[in-house]
Amino acid sequence: MMEFDDIRSWVVRCVRCGTCKFTNETYLPSCPAGERFRFEPFYASGKNFIARGIIEGALKFSDPGVVDAIYSCPTCGNCQTQCPLPHHEHLVDIYEALRARAVEEGAGPLPSHKPLLASLRQYENPWMQPRASKARWAKELGIKDVSREKARVLYFVGCTAALDPTLRNIPTATASLLQSAGVDFGILGEAEICCASTALRVGDRILFRSLAERNIELLNRLKIETIITSCAGCYKTLKHDYPAVGKIRPQILHSSEFIYRLLLGGKLKFKKEATRVATYHDPCHLGRLGGVFDPPRRILRALPGITFREMDRIRENAYCCGAGGGVRTAFPDWATDNVGLRIEEAEKTGANLLVSTCPFCAQNFMTGIEKKGSSLEYIDLVDLLSSLLRE
Ligand code: SF4
Ligand code: SF4
Repeated sequence: MMEFDDIRSWVVRCVRCGTCKFTNETYLPSCPAGERFRFEPFYASGKNFIARGIIEGALKFSDPGVVDAIYSCPTCGNCQTQCPLPHHEHLVDIYEALRARAVEEGAGPLPSHKPLLASLRQYENPWMQPRASKARWAKELGIKDVSREKARVLYFVGCTAALDPTLRNIPTATASLLQSAGVDFGILGEAEICCASTALRVGDRILFRSLAERNIELLNRLKIETIITSCAGCYKTLKHDYPAVGKIRPQILHSSEFIYRLLLGGKLKFKKEATRVATYHDPCHLGRLGGVFDPPRRILRALPGITFREMDRIRENAYCCGAGGGVRTAFPDWATDNVGLRIEEAEKTGANLLVSTCPFCAQNFMTGIEKKGSSLEYIDLVDLLSSLLRE
């Protein structure tokens, strides 16, 4: 997380070479915003130039198109991977700082983001649901409440997995897998507070800090050793963004990392196999921006009966589904069209299962598959694994 006043020395390094528009190895498109709008302000080069214009006073947020351009970006970070210059690792920081300054000046976020932020303030989740709803999926599953009982592991479910009824399979499969492996774990249920990734991505840093501070205090107070998340956004926010606000004592792992350790430790016994061909989509906030590429792939390769095939753009070069950074909220049609491009790439592998491991990506893929009438089936990695542990 970078402050607006600190981005100048990075912004000026962009030479507008356009290298970031394509992926290094395949020369396929890298930037969902550029692919959609095919216009310079929407690529990294344009966003850097807009930032420079704002810093030097040549542009104002009120100038036509400025706010739209800076919010038309899922903050996927693919430009960071492709850019050869030393400022590359700060590109997403630059866009997020630009959004934060837009919010400070009353020009951001976009009107469609405001209900999300209001929901975060009122309910501590972005889905406008009462706090009590967060524990609903876990009723009668016999899961410890770590706000009352001790446990070694906290399963930080996240708002999307806990509250979207179409994704209930993700927390239930994760809990069932942890139970079958004998892990001493619990959840926070209705006491779980949103990680506030949404607030950070759309530029509301005051709201982000207030929720982050409460989470840091709560998570450090619990007698837990490890926090695991289902959501790539929660993972990246807790692990990589919170340190700018405060330190979280327990180690933070994505569920795929924790479950891979269980697999290596012989804690998971497969009871059946799935004769399917699977491909894997790297969620941006887990892979490129979180550094977790191998555990999901190693799990997939270990599943009995599964044939694993990679897409053309993978790992650091993976093409974003288009849901993040407030894009799916503000531009739902674009997010669906963009994930359609990723679905086509997955179809090209000959797979019949499209696997990923982020509830936010899951929502976008399921909408995209339905809209395209694709024969691919989307399944969450943990759900797939958990299904093979049962008779
Ligand atoms: S962000 Fe990097 S790769 Fe993209 S145009 Fe600027 S200097 Fe070139
Ligand atoms: S973060 Fe992603 S969408 Fe935004 S400019 Fe970079 S490559 Fe394009």
